[in-house]
Amino acid sequence: MEDEKDLREALRDTLAAAGYTVECCENGPDGLDALCCGGCELALLDRLLPGMDGLEVLRQARQAGCATPVLVLTALDGVGDRVEGLDAGADDYLAKPFAPEELLARVRALGRRPARWEPTALRRGDVELDVAGRVLTGPAGARTLSGRECALLELFLHNPGVTLPRERILLNVWGPDSEVESGNIDNYIHLVRRRLRLAGSRMELVTCRGTGYRLEEDPC
Ligand code: CA
Repeated sequence: MEDEKDLREALRDTLAAAGYTVECCENGPDGLDALCCGGCELALLDRLLPGMDGLEVLRQARQAGCATPVLVLTALDGVGDRVEGLDAGADDYLAKPFAPEELLARVRALGRRPARWEPTALRRGDVELDVAGRVLTGPAGARTLSGRECALLELFLHNPGVTLPRERILLNVWGPDSEVESGNIDNYIHLVRRRLRLAGSRMELVTCRGTGYRLEEDPC
């Protein structure tokens, strides 16, 4: 949450480049909504925001039961300001201007509390899949995947050499209530095969007639 456009965009770029998924808010009330809906794993909160002061956002979010770690960013950097921020429920405090490296270090430190905060990269065979950024990197370079392609490939990378029945693929990638048609799986398998090929990978999604598909790390 940051109302100054340049800083907001710089923060977003810095965090995105480090592998985080970023959602921006420009004012206090929107920030409060974003915090209270519980979808984020860490929040950066500017103190001086239009609509509602950053600390008021924090107080109200904490009162509403929000437990998201919050790093307060501010140009106000007296001891009294830090204490006030921490009292309002901030987990850490960073004074402007700050170096991107310091911001990332603070974000990582806060992220260590619940271990699930590290950016997720999955390595297998000759590829690496950045699940958060949906980027597949292989010997021939990087490819961006759609959400569905990424979920599908992630499932196979977790289960190399295992024949995955179509029902399991449907359940894992499309969910229990999906109306997806069986032919759709074939279309997505085709797309993921193409991504693997374009990334220069030797890995192959093999069709197992009558059952499903299997990821072969080194097919001959
Ligand atoms: Ca501001």
